[in-house]
Amino acid sequence: MVAENLQYLRENLANTCVRIGRDPQSVDLIAVSKTFPAERIEEALAAGLTDFGENYVQEMAEKRKQLDGRGIRWHCIGHLQSNKVKYIIDWVHLIHSVDSIALAEEVQKRSLKAGKRTDVLIEVNTSREATKFGVAPADAEELVRRVRAMPDIRVRGLMTIGPFTDDRGRSREAFRTLRTLFDGMNARTGEPMTVLSMGMTHDYTVALEEGATMLRIGTALFGPRSAA
Ligand SMILES: *Cc1c(COP(=O)(O)O)cnc(C)c1O
Repeated sequence: MVAENLQYLRENLANTCVRIGRDPQSVDLIAVSKTFPAERIEEALAAGLTDFGENYVQEMAEKRKQLDGRGIRWHCIGHLQSNKVKYIIDWVHLIHSVDSIALAEEVQKRSLKAGKRTDVLIEVNTSREATKFGVAPADAEELVRRVRAMPDIRVRGLMTIGPFTDDRGRSREAFRTLRTLFDGMNARTGEPMTVLSMGMTHDYTVALEEGATMLRIGTALFGPRSAA
């Protein structure tokens, strides 16, 4: 089932990219496997997916153990508490959800200790929904600047969660906010950021239109999650 879903998704992505004049190769797909067991990830691996996103540290760590040696790149996409950083620092591929200086300082400290440089994205709350994590758009550049000064962290780009709505106009507004911040920072500072992580099952088409380079897709690949 994952293979069929993936084929359908890839066709959709390709069609959208052709329509808007983008290269489908410029878009990375993160399979969001939260709540699904390791067997479903095996299925996705067999279908050719390599990058998996999880929201909870413990769940991600358990699946990583179960799937050891498969060459999976694990993405931390959920809210990350500072006291959990130590459990993932050795192997996490990309942390999408750095949204405070305190969390960044912990990532820096643990990266130094682990002898590695950790790739992160700065999460921005573009929809200004109070229930969401992420730095306010107005404070994003200052946070990026400060995290970039940390020697063992590499800020690869920005991430946002679009509003939970079918209103494409509101989705577009949120993604455009992120894109504008991204372009502005890249114009002002040295080494350009390259990653714009935005777009989920319900809004990835709009995200692509607005310049997403990384989509985080769960439902369209694995089917609906049962309410936990
Ligand atoms: C769950 C989740 C996704 C995937 O959502 P779908 O609607 O299932 O595609 C993407 N990003 C984050 C941060 C998530 O928590």
